[in-house]
Amino acid sequence: MGVRRTLADGGGTIVDTVDVIVVGAGPNGLAAAVTMARAGLSVRVYEKADVIGGGSRTAELTLPGFRHDICSAVHPMAYASAFFRRFGLAERIPFVLPEVSYGHPLDGGRAGIAYRDIERTVESLGVDGHAWKTLMGPLARHADQVARTTGSSLLQAPPHPLTFARFGIRALEQGTVAWNLRWKEDVAPAMLAGVAAHAIRPMPSLATAAGGLMLGTYAHDRGWPIPVGGSQSIVDAMAADVVAHGGEIVTGTEITSLAELPKARAVLFDVSPRALVRIAGSRMPARYERALKRFRYGNGAAKVDYALSGPVPWTNPELHRASTLHVGGTRAELVAAEKDVARGRHSERPYVLASQPTTFDPSRAPEGKHVLWAYAHVPQYSTVDQTEVVTAQIERFAPGFRDLILASSSTTGIEMERYNPNYIGGDIAVGAPSMRQLVARPVFSADPWRTPMPGVYLCSSSTPPGPGVHGLAGWHAAASALRHEFGMHGTPALGIEQPPMQTLQNSGAAA
Ligand SMILES: Cc1cc2nc3c(=O)[nH]c(=O)nc-3n(C[C@H](O)[C@H](O)[C@H](O)COP(=O)(O)OP(=O)(O)OC[C@H]3O[C@@H](n4cnc5c(N)ncnc54)[C@H](O)[C@@H]3O)c2cc1C
Repeated sequence: MGVRRTLADGGGTIVDTVDVIVVGAGPNGLAAAVTMARAGLSVRVYEKADVIGGGSRTAELTLPGFRHDICSAVHPMAYASAFFRRFGLAERIPFVLPEVSYGHPLDGGRAGIAYRDIERTVESLGVDGHAWKTLMGPLARHADQVARTTGSSLLQAPPHPLTFARFGIRALEQGTVAWNLRWKEDVAPAMLAGVAAHAIRPMPSLATAAGGLMLGTYAHDRGWPIPVGGSQSIVDAMAADVVAHGGEIVTGTEITSLAELPKARAVLFDVSPRALVRIAGSRMPARYERALKRFRYGNGAAKVDYALSGPVPWTNPELHRASTLHVGGTRAELVAAEKDVARGRHSERPYVLASQPTTFDPSRAPEGKHVLWAYAHVPQYSTVDQTEVVTAQIERFAPGFRDLILASSSTTGIEMERYNPNYIGGDIAVGAPSMRQLVARPVFSADPWRTPMPGVYLCSSSTPPGPGVHGLAGWHAAASALRHEFGMHGTPALGIEQPPMQTLQNSGAAA
């Protein structure tokens, strides 16, 4: 593909001029670059690592031929994000869409199964089916509106007030002590806690409930797809579009100071607020610097990737149909595990998020073999290898799992930061998703992507709508920069351009 390495390591300052510079080639940086290049501007992206993608990369981490997603694996927002829908991501790269969005094993061979079909889910939940339907049904029926409502700064007027109210009422219920009142058994509440726990926060809380309800909504609408070949294919498609529209991507180049950058009218940073303070130095106004320094980072994730000789032997066979598994037991057990992490302790039975992509996408492992992606929540700056506790949690619901392990690779919380400086102390959300920081991300502003430094923007997941591979933060930041630096209102078309009709007629390719 057309990614160029145009600056040698340590190559010093480039002296030429471009319209737009993007620092960081994660999904948000690339979304910003795509938008700017499509607006007809000259764009250059600088990426610290030798390979683009940040939190959306795939590599052989264990054995030859076993391809693992290093960070993101499952992509509900690839279908739900307004940016990706405009970009036509689903038409550019193949996805697999499992009929089960997520599964939640419980002891005794029981499991909660979130089918894309909400009616089937309701039926499977028995006595709690109706309660599930009244909670999730109205949101799933308006999933597009939920995506638009949660896809930008909460300080902007909600585009769909009724859906916002529906969502808010449910978040108030599932984010407070009232969260158990509607349930009679333990399967449905465990399922919802499993989705809410993605936020890495003590539960119940408004922030965990909001995240859980959002992802839970997509589970019953467009589903939780996985890209064929791994998450790298998403960013490769974005990078190809940048290059096709005249942009350049320079890898292996860390930007440590504004002074290193060539002249540009806009610079968009896909970095943490802490890094921006360092990079801007004395050019950052003191008040803004204080605000960014108040921004808090959350607890972390420690990864374990497995190469397996066969599929995970889940006791409950329905779990084979899920690409995503929330492993950790009942709601009460998940609450205890998250409480441990919040208190700075490593849980002996942590919440584990797992994905078994080769069940759906055999291209990622040699024939008959499998990869399993998993991470456990850990305290900030954790140095503890989580392989044993993660293995034990999976073994609990899939006896014999241990015997299938050919190799494994562990990345502790602190190693996450070494892999990508945005993940401070292992915080994969790049900012604790507290209620305050859902609103002030990273500062209280209806346009939080724009900084008080002329032409300087922040576009990482420390800005709305927060973590996830959705490209929305980059797209919103680009829209703000287009308006303020280039006088362009609105955003350009991003979809796949059809070749001119004449070419189609002359190619002889059409049947
Ligand atoms: C273990 C893990 C699992 C995840 N699972 C999922 C999932 O299943 N689904 C999902 O949707 N999301 C998931 N996420 C979250 C998702 O990956 C991130 O929210 C997303 O990648 C954020 O995109 P971004 O562009 O803001 O930042 P990043 O993807 O972090 O990219 C930032 C880029 O900037 C570069 N950079 C930083 N500083 C500099 C500098 N000074 N100079 C040059 N380059 C710099 C970095 O090297 C990096 O490439 C996961 C994340 C992790 C870590």
